[in-house]
Amino acid sequence: MKRKIVRIDEELCTGCGLCVTPCAEGAIEIVDGKAKVLREELCDGAGVCLSICPVGALSIEEREAPPFDPEAAANLAAKRARGERVACFRCGADEEGAVVLLARHRGESTWVCTRCLPVLIHG
Ligand code: SF4
Repeated sequence: MKRKIVRIDEELCTGCGLCVTPCAEGAIEIVDGKAKVLREELCDGAGVCLSICPVGALSIEEREAPPFDPEAAANLAAKRARGERVACFRCGADEEGAVVLLARHRGESTWVCTRCLPVLIHG
């Protein structure tokens, strides 16, 4: 099917890895020094990772790709859609008091607020 999905410009990519954490679905990995969308079915095309890239190597394009598979992905978005409380794993802030995003941390998909996200990315 044709759908929106992340495109990585390998000429621009420095392999810094900053885009790996913000991809909550775990679609992006660093391979041989370059970011790659290893499992296209995990990329929902939302583009959360785009603004993280310091060299502008990430963009969204429309092309042939396997359909997004929410079951294979973290499926955390379904929790929010069901109206369940989501909270930042670091500080515990929920959506009543903060903007809470999906992110990757130590290989797991989790929730993080925008105050704690820079710590995940920059340490
Ligand atoms: S943030 Fe940009 S430069 Fe860094 S690994 Fe990801 S695509 Fe490559």
